[in-house]
Amino acid sequence: MIKYSRQDLSEQDISAVVDILRGDLITQGPAVGQFEIAVSKYVGAKHQGVAVNSATSGLHIAYLALDVGVGDIVWTSANTFLATASAALMCGASVDFVDICEQTLNICPVALRSKLRKAASMNRVPKVLTVVHFAGLSCDMKSISELATEFGFAIVEDASHALGASYNGKPVGACEFSEVCVFSFHAIKMITTGEGGMVFARDEGIANRLRRLRSHGVTSNPDEMFIGPDDELWNYQMLEVGFNYRLTDIQAALGTSQLERVDEFVSARNDIAIEYNRAFERAELKTQKVPLDCISSYHLFVIRVTERSRCSRRQLYDHLWDSGIAINFHYIPVYRHPFFEARGFTKGYCPIAETYFRDGISIPLHTQLTRPDFDHVVSSINAVV
Ligand SMILES: *Cc1c(COP(=O)(O)O)cnc(C)c1O
Repeated sequence: MIKYSRQDLSEQDISAVVDILRGDLITQGPAVGQFEIAVSKYVGAKHQGVAVNSATSGLHIAYLALDVGVGDIVWTSANTFLATASAALMCGASVDFVDICEQTLNICPVALRSKLRKAASMNRVPKVLTVVHFAGLSCDMKSISELATEFGFAIVEDASHALGASYNGKPVGACEFSEVCVFSFHAIKMITTGEGGMVFARDEGIANRLRRLRSHGVTSNPDEMFIGPDDELWNYQMLEVGFNYRLTDIQAALGTSQLERVDEFVSARNDIAIEYNRAFERAELKTQKVPLDCISSYHLFVIRVTERSRCSRRQLYDHLWDSGIAINFHYIPVYRHPFFEARGFTKGYCPIAETYFRDGISIPLHTQLTRPDFDHVVSSINAVV
């Protein structure tokens, strides 16, 4: 089977992990800090990133660090992995969904503006909007941040797909237009630590709070401690409820080693995407449009059947599986999951995300896709579309 995605591990990656296993520290130790510094440099972050054991954990503490809680509202894209929304539910907040653009498959600023207008008239403006850079393509951050200023909400970036992507000439992760940005290092994301993630903040106070929430809500900074005149020395103090969301040195060493090849990964994926776009130019298919101010990391490559296609999505899906090509769908609109339907969301809520879910397929795109496999994918698709 040709897989739609797959990790790319080198002998150097493997020996980086083995070196840690032969050393003294295997949980959060110096390798985690080194990994944080390396990714921070790569994305041009103002403050050192906070490594966590998954992007889901990262989103959870991002929301908490922005004081999202009971009574607050978080909005996100209908076209995302459900964790973007469920991490807000973990804080006791309620969630709502914004429809996407037909062309980019990202949150549509026009739909967002009209939804905000309505929400403002009912005093229901969200505290946080989480944008999702779908497939590694940045959202229209300028338009969205103007709306954030006008209506008064904070922006979180779910950049799980977008390490190595850039917007407006800057790497995603620099938090130029957001409060917090979260990356995932799950096996099939741009680089991997097995499971893992990293969170960046624009504000130093938020960055410190993220670091504290990652590890039991504890501080070891004497300036943050409460020490009375009769108190003995404290090593650390718990200031709030936190979690054990730490990454291990084993994982961090893998991440640092993987990061050395991230530009190579991005360019290999872009090369394949260019060839796919060329191959489907005349086929009756649509693909994701990349605006001129964006470089996509191409975590995914999506094709969409249209009215002019000779087959339905279902027929294409079956044909590709029969041809040994393991494809996938990204994503079922989050509110169509039973959990959300039971809470009042209904079919038709975000029509563009629903149409895309009905006609889109993620086809194989990864750094180890061979030329014969690529040719097989293209000819299998063109044979039926
Ligand atoms: C993968 C992914 C997540 C969750 O990442 P984990 O590291 O697996 O927790 C969240 N949002 C999006 C858009 C993702 O693709």
